[in-house]
Amino acid sequence: VNHRLVFLGPPASGKGTVAAVLSRLLGVPHVSTGQMFRQAVQKGGPAAEAAREFIEKGQLVPDPITMQIVRQWLDESGGGDGFILDGFPRTLPQALGLDRLLQERNQPLTHAVLLDLDDEDCVARGLGRMSCEKCGTLYHVTFVPPRRDGVCDACGGRLQRRADDNERTVRERLEIYRQQTLQVVGHYEKRRLLRRVDARLPKEQVLETVLKLVQT
Ligand code: AMP
Repeated sequence: VNHRLVFLGPPASGKGTVAAVLSRLLGVPHVSTGQMFRQAVQKGGPAAEAAREFIEKGQLVPDPITMQIVRQWLDESGGGDGFILDGFPRTLPQALGLDRLLQERNQPLTHAVLLDLDDEDCVARGLGRMSCEKCGTLYHVTFVPPRRDGVCDACGGRLQRRADDNERTVRERLEIYRQQTLQVVGHYEKRRLLRRVDARLPKEQVLETVLKLVQT
């Protein structure tokens, strides 16, 4: 079976962490639009500069730009062998756009996984979050600490914080999640693709639950 999944959930609910492990287990690529934007910003250029301003304020990059990078990824990869889209779609137009792109390719989504977490937990997780600048492994100061301060367990790389993981921006992202992304949740609920997972559970349990859900 080819799994074609989208991961939804408020900021810092664990989408990236779970998607990374699941991608290895299922052998399908992990596609994070947030990661793609951060990489584009590091490379620079005019489009990246525009995206950077939205990201730093905790706002969404406009739909046309976001659809463009997802369409490009699908065109280049074919998408047929499956994927985990992490952090996309976040607006109803993005969801409808994705439906259309996948319909054209005869590769409809298999599930939409929602990692459910309340606001205070999102803030607590967002504020302590760190990632390895080399291999991208995710950590948290108190919940998932590295063995050595500031150093990646997996590759020895340096750990970094995201510029948008401050309290003000996390709260802004939560607000936008409520205003825009909850409609996407409703869309997949109607299409009977939605699978809700309690993201407060330890990550091993979240992973195990998701693994079972996507295989049924
Ligand atoms: P993430 O890494 O998923 O938390 O995304 C970080 C930031 O990238 C978001 O706060 C947005 O500014 C931008 N971004 C990521 N995915 C999307 C999307 N699907 N639509 C619009 N903006 C996005």
